[in-house]
Amino acid sequence: MLLCKKIKIEVSDRDAEALEFMQEKCRGLYNWWVMKLRNGERWPGWHKAKKTLRASRKYDPELNAVYGKLLQEVFFRLDQAMQGFFRRAAAGEQKPGFPRVKPRHQFFTLCYPAMYLDTIVSNTIVLPTGGGRKWGPKCYPNIVAHLTEEPPEHFHEVAVSKDAHWNYYCSFVYEDTEQSDQEGENKPGRRRKKRKHYPLREDGIVAFDLGIKTLATGFNDQGRFYHIGGFKGYRWYNKQLDKIRSKRDRCKKKSRRYIHLSKVYKRVSERKRRKQRDCLHKASHFIAHRLAERAVVIGDLSQRQMVIKKQEDETPKERRKRQIRNRLVYNDWGLYGFVQMLEYKCLRFGKALSIISERDTTRMCHACKHKQDMPLWKRTYRCENENCGLVMDRDENSAVNLYQRFVAGPPPHR
Ligand SMILES: [Zn+2]
Repeated sequence: MLLCKKIKIEVSDRDAEALEFMQEKCRGLYNWWVMKLRNGERWPGWHKAKKTLRASRKYDPELNAVYGKLLQEVFFRLDQAMQGFFRRAAAGEQKPGFPRVKPRHQFFTLCYPAMYLDTIVSNTIVLPTGGGRKWGPKCYPNIVAHLTEEPPEHFHEVAVSKDAHWNYYCSFVYEDTEQSDQEGENKPGRRRKKRKHYPLREDGIVAFDLGIKTLATGFNDQGRFYHIGGFKGYRWYNKQLDKIRSKRDRCKKKSRRYIHLSKVYKRVSERKRRKQRDCLHKASHFIAHRLAERAVVIGDLSQRQMVIKKQEDETPKERRKRQIRNRLVYNDWGLYGFVQMLEYKCLRFGKALSIISERDTTRMCHACKHKQDMPLWKRTYRCENENCGLVMDRDENSAVNLYQRFVAGPPPHR
């Protein structure tokens, strides 16, 4: 399967300038096309659009200083955005999302196809710039970037990006199976951390309830529970971020202090995002790699109503609650990303991931099937059925329900 490795690179000031110049030109070309399309021009497809590049070069000769393959990649990227839009529109989505112009403050990712890159010698990669030969003298010499980690051996393409701290990165896309098996054996003096293999139970099943308070609560065929905590620092980070933002908003726009605080804000939010992603990676890796059960079951999130809708006559307290909750769902939680990580990691480690309906799994008692309302603040399930009297953590009960539903198989077709 295709994987991606992102490696930080070190470049000289001059090379950084070349990267900035090229991304700006690529973005300009992209945005120019988006504006044309927004004004009602038909998208001719990447093949025909590519042919207009010659005219664009004539209009803006500075484009010649950009490596040609990067410019062509702009058309592929736009084509993908347009195809996505057509697909969503055909599916009848209310907001099909027409491609948008890329903002100036974001680095426009540069994609190099691998066949035009030289082989990498001692972790140094040469990224070509435009110009030379029939294009006239080169404005910028080819970029020489030092990779801070070992790149994969055979890769398909390389994407250059930048983060909020002005660090540049190369992301290598590669096929898992193309890498040689005896990693490190042909490189003396270098020992790689070997991936440990954990035993797998072929008939093992584990079902996970995904939630806000605990990221995942699992129940397996041997009656064991797993609790996976998730990222804890939302509150602390959000408090910091709110404080910085309110300080900034009291400053005059574009003033030195304003710009400084904007930078700090970006830095802190980036740190928060990274910590959180790291945590999701670890949790999904734990489920896909460490656990012995071969079958992993989770509930279908698309059926869940997680966002609180605005009420007409809400009290300030309700309003605050809605804001906190929705911020959690939209920005902080990352559960959708978690499911995606889980999907590819399960595929990679040879596990079978099943996504089944989670309807009533929180409301229903797993012992007697009695259903009762479970508002979010009720953390413990206390069965109202007097003959049953089950008392259990709500997430655990829900995980058991998911497990039982999976074992029972799909409901009879109606
Ligand atoms: Zn019960």
